[in-house]
Amino acid sequence: MSDAPTLGALLVAARRRLKDAGIDTADIDARLLVEAATGASRLDMLAAADRSVAPDAVERLQKWLHRRAAGEPVGRILGAASFYGLDFALGPDTLEPRPDTETLVEVALAAVRAGRIAGASPHGDGLRLLDLGTGTGAIAVTLLAKLPCARGVATDLSPGALSVARDNAHRNGVGDRLDFAQGDFFSAVSGSFNLIVSNPPYIASAVISDLDPEVRLHDPLLALDGGPDGLDAYRTIVGDLHDHLVPGALFAVEIGWDQGKAVEALFGTAGLVEIEVHCDLGGRQRVVSGRRSTQFD
Ligand code: GLN
Repeated sequence: MSDAPTLGALLVAARRRLKDAGIDTADIDARLLVEAATGASRLDMLAAADRSVAPDAVERLQKWLHRRAAGEPVGRILGAASFYGLDFALGPDTLEPRPDTETLVEVALAAVRAGRIAGASPHGDGLRLLDLGTGTGAIAVTLLAKLPCARGVATDLSPGALSVARDNAHRNGVGDRLDFAQGDFFSAVSGSFNLIVSNPPYIASAVISDLDPEVRLHDPLLALDGGPDGLDAYRTIVGDLHDHLVPGALFAVEIGWDQGKAVEALFGTAGLVEIEVHCDLGGRQRVVSGRRSTQFD
C-alpha cells in the first residue's frame, strides 16, 4: 500500500495553503497548479480524485505553491496563460494576457461578422489586420484563429516579445498568416490595413508604483508605462494612423477604465467616425473603437 497523496487531497491542501497566504484566487490557482504539476485534466480532477500522485509531481507542486504564496502569478510560474480559450506562452518581455483584453477581440470580431469592415467579408476574407505592440500575440493570434481567411501583421518594440508571439502564432496554427515587424508602433510597418488593433501601455507613469505587486513585479514596464498621463502611446498611434488605415477600416484599442473620454477625443481629432466606448465584463470602460470615414478621402 502506498501513502502517496491523492489528486483530491493535494487539491484540498493546495487551496488551503494559498488561502492561508491571502491569495484571492486560491481556488482556481490551486486547481491550475495541481493540474499542471500532475498532468491531470480538469475531468480527472473530478472523476479520478482518488488517483495517487507520484513524488516528483508532488515536489513540483510544492515548489510552485511556494512561489504562488509569495505572490508570483500562476501564468508566470507555468510560463503560459489561457486567453479566449487558446494557450499562449509568456516571456519576460510580454504582459500576461488579461481576460479584460478579450473585450477588444470581441469588438473586432463583432465588427467583422457584422460586415462593417471595408474590404472584408463577414467571414474575414479580405481582412488584413495590424496589431501594434503585440506582446504574446494574444490579440492578433486569436483574431486569426477565429477568422481563418484573414491575414495580419504584428509589431513589437521588443525582439523578445516578438519571438514569443511568433511561437504562439505557430502553436495556435496561424503562423503562416501572421507576419512580424520589430519597431515602435508604426515605425516598421508598411502598407495599409482594414483593421488596426492595439493594447498599448496606458498606465500613467506616476501610478505604476501603486499597481498591484503581482502586476508591478511581474509584468514588463515597457508594456505598462504610458507616460505622464498614460496617453502617450495613443497619441503616437493616432498621429500616424491615416498612412495605414484604409477608408472604411476599423481602429480599436484597449484603454484604462478612466481613459474613455480622453481617447474618444483623440479619435475625434484624428477624424474617425462612429466612435464608441465599450465596457468589459466587469462593466468598466475598456475599449474605444472608430472607423475611418469613406466619405472625405
Ligand atoms: N490592463 C493592464 C493592467 O491593468 C495594463 C495593460 C496596459 O497598459 N496595456 O495592468
